This record gives sequence, structure tokens and C-alpha cells, in this order.
Amino acid sequence: MRVRLIPALEDNYMYLIIDEQTQECAAVDPVEPEKVLNAVKEEGVTLKSVLTTHHHWDHAGGNEKLIGLAGKLMVYGGDKRIGALTNQVTEGDQFKIGSLNVRCLFTPCHTSGHICYYVTGPSGTNPAVFTGDTLFVGGCGKFFEGTAKEMYTALVEKLAALPQETKVYCGHEYTVSNLKFAVSVEPNSEAVKSKMAWAQGQRSKQQATIPSTIAEELLYNPFMRVREKTVQEHAGKSDPVEVMGILRTEKNNFRAV
Ligand SMILES: [Zn+2]
Repeated sequence: MRVRLIPALEDNYMYLIIDEQTQECAAVDPVEPEKVLNAVKEEGVTLKSVLTTHHHWDHAGGNEKLIGLAGKLMVYGGDKRIGALTNQVTEGDQFKIGSLNVRCLFTPCHTSGHICYYVTGPSGTNPAVFTGDTLFVGGCGKFFEGTAKEMYTALVEKLAALPQETKVYCGHEYTVSNLKFAVSVEPNSEAVKSKMAWAQGQRSKQQATIPSTIAEELLYNPFMRVREKTVQEHAGKSDPVEVMGILRTEKNNFRAV
């Protein structure tokens, strides 16, 4: 498996997931179809499918145009509001990209039909997860259509339970601003500080901070750490779902200096 990252719009990421055995590929959230098709051409691969994380225009808004330019493709997603949808999926659904396995994780909260896609090589090797606007490096998406309980289920019960080496490919380059909030939650955390220094270095070179891994997120992402004492003390609560809600409200109002 090879993943090609394609920046889009202001701070979105689209991805090509390429199966090197069959030279087939899938596009994740192809909001700028021309850029995706140029990348497909450069790679010399065949685009077969679209993986849509959620219906927001900056993720799903390119689906129809892409089909218009590239012809018939399988379009996966968890929400009827997604343009050009051919295959509606939910928790546990599986399909293939060439020889790669894809398993769908239903992660409603940011939107009520949000799906994360867990992708592995033929024998479960090289795991990667495409998390859209559910899990970001150092943060998570806003709870537009869901509850703290749902984000807890998504982040702590589903994503944190994936193999620890799973690479995390998210929908936006929000890492530095997420980590500024993480510093305010855990000011004494070396893990947060060192990730911040690295992320700022990457951004000063116009480099992406993607991917991270599930193991890394559990070290510095406060929304993944709602069971940790330091995070609970910051929130003044010990119930992890309540802590999730408090962190999200705080982050919504957070202005980094
Ligand atoms: Zn969104």
C-alpha cells in the first residue's frame, strides 16, 4: 500500500490509496477532482473508487465532477447527503481496493453519517486509517450533529482500539492550532511540547504533519486522553464522556495567543 497526500483548498487533504500489486487506487475526499486526476496520471494507476468520509462540501463536494471527468466509479460513504453515492456503508462493512482490505468504522458526531476507513495490506499489514473530520492530529472535529458520548465511542472505543502502529490520515492540516490547545490542557506534557516543536518545524518548511499514528495520538491528543488523570483534572471531572464535552466546548472558544 502506498498513500499519496494531495493538499486541497485552504487546509484540506485528499489522498490516493494505491495498491501496488494491482495498480488500482481509491481517492479519499476528492474535493478538487482535477488535482486528483493529475496525481492518478502521474502515478500511472487506475482510479476505481471514491471513499467519502462525510457529506460536508469540502470533502464530498467534488464527487459529481470527478465522475463527470473520470467516468463510472464506486462511491462509498455513510450518508445519503453525499453526492454521486453508489455504495452506502456502515460499521463493519468491508470492501477492496485491488488487494487491499477496507473496513468501515461508523463514527457519527461531526456529522451523523461520518465514516472512517481502516485500510490494510493483503495479510493485515501496514494499517492506515482515514479519519476525515473525526480524528485530527492533536485534536478532533466539532460536534455538529452528535454528542460527546458519540465522539467518545469514535475516538476512545473504536479508533484507539486499532493496532497502535496504524497510520492516521486526517482531513485537515490543523495540527499546530490543535496542539496549542493541547498545551493548555496538559502544560507539563513533554509529548505535547515535542510534537508541537516538530509540527511547527514541518509547517515552516511548508511540509505536512500527516500522518501520525494511533500510538502517538494517545500520547498528546487531549480528546484521545479523556481517561487520563491529568486531562480529567484539567476538566474538573472524572467521567471521560463529560470530559470530552468540556474539552470540545473549551476548544470551540479557545483563542491561542
Ligand atoms: Zn466536516
